Amino acid sequence: MRKNIVAGNWKMNKSLEEGKTLISEIMNTQNSSDCQIIIIPPFIHLSVANEITCNSNIAIGAQDCSANQSGAYTGEVSAQMIKSAGCQYVIVGHSERRAMHNESNNLLNIKVNQALENKLTPIYCCGETLEEREANRHFEVVKQQIQEGLFTLTEEQIKNSVIAYEPVWAIGTGKTASADQAQEIHNYIRTIIADKYGNSVAQEISILYGGSVKPQNAQEIFAKEDVDGGLIGGASLKAEDFIAITKGF
Ligand code: PEP
Repeated sequence: MRKNIVAGNWKMNKSLEEGKTLISEIMNTQNSSDCQIIIIPPFIHLSVANEITCNSNIAIGAQDCSANQSGAYTGEVSAQMIKSAGCQYVIVGHSERRAMHNESNNLLNIKVNQALENKLTPIYCCGETLEEREANRHFEVVKQQIQEGLFTLTEEQIKNSVIAYEPVWAIGTGKTASADQAQEIHNYIRTIIADKYGNSVAQEISILYGGSVKPQNAQEIFAKEDVDGGLIGGASLKAEDFIAITKGF
């Protein structure tokens, strides 16, 4: 059956030294939890993060990848480079990149393909803004993000992908979707996938919730049937909180 996952997205936080310390603290504190732990630091930390964690059950991911394979793309980092640094995962389409870098579903579809072609598991983010939720458009918005971002994939490819539902209004705001709100939309996402790929494929895909998850609310959210873990921002920057969240299953 599908994996439970807790992934920590550090965003643009932690110097290299601070990052090494945080990874060591996580490794020293964690003991076999019931989930796959993924640490997602800035690009510059990836090699050393993989060296530190190579004999552990912790995986490392990147926060983004280029839509291009290689060449004259100053400042970009390719999926192949991320793989060569030892990573297994890459976030694609985080709402901060959608909003600040104008990343469209179509561009993200190319990035998802780059990830898969390089044997990385994409963690594809979707989620509505506050305005869209208030206009009761959240189902429609998420459906379009999933269809345009993922539905060119083969059955095998989508089975090797992870989806993160992250309502934009809950990211870094302290406002969490209720466990019932999370379940409602996770179930909807699984239904859309089942309609396209069949129920057995849909049952294999891990769907993570992201948006102000903390030790105090993780357990209630993760207990929902279609919530297979979390993508954690702020609370992944403190080993104690991050580990407490991994115990939320
Ligand atoms: C995120 O950035 O993916 C996120 C969920 O952030 P936070 O946990 O801080 O809301």
